[in-house]
Amino acid sequence: MNRYFHQFILPQSCFLCGDSSTQTLCTACLADLPYHNHNIASCIYCAETLETEGVCSKCQTQSPPYTKTQAIFSYIYPIDKLIIAAKFDQNLAVLNLLGKVMAQHLIIEPRPDILIPVPLHAKRLRQRGYNQSLELAKPITKQTGIPLDYKACKRIKNTRPQSSLSAKQRQNNLVGAFSVRRFPQHWQHIVLIDDVMTTGTTVTELAKVCLEAGVQRVDVWCCARR
Ligand SMILES: [Zn+2]
Ligand SMILES: [Zn+2]
Repeated sequence: MNRYFHQFILPQSCFLCGDSSTQTLCTACLADLPYHNHNIASCIYCAETLETEGVCSKCQTQSPPYTKTQAIFSYIYPIDKLIIAAKFDQNLAVLNLLGKVMAQHLIIEPRPDILIPVPLHAKRLRQRGYNQSLELAKPITKQTGIPLDYKACKRIKNTRPQSSLSAKQRQNNLVGAFSVRRFPQHWQHIVLIDDVMTTGTTVTELAKVCLEAGVQRVDVWCCARR
């Protein structure tokens, strides 16, 4: 039997449980994902998990430059496993599925003018071959009709991976990391698309640059919140 025939007769299987599935994840695994935004009390600004809905201590000390964060998932199993596969194992099917699920769960009110995926530095982009945030944004654009721009913002500093740094180092690491190439005047409300939000330092820096470029409002839509 040649391998093409083999591929043809084998049903596709769920990435998590291995059951036969026409999608990357079967219906049961999809329903069991750790949904964050509807199920968990969180900070109205940064979506950090709280005991009751409100403002976290960090946002009380200093209000973030963005208005609101929507995080679709909590960064726990199996979302961590899916995102690692998506970022480091070239699994674009997983990213496409996560983007579709994001689009189904996002509250699109008020409707933004443009979606901007958090840019990768050119060097990192060459290494990985794609920007995971852009791949998440594509199905969101497709399902919501909100346009997408991945050229207006640029990452000009090839920063060290945030995950290897302390909170203070994260902040310093990202100062001056982004620049804005061009912003049309009708972009008044921007949404930044990110894969994983940990302390929020990355989106904070990027949101600041966008506000300096004359935008009125910046929101954050991230796939998973730590
Ligand atoms: Zn499954
Ligand atoms: Zn907060």
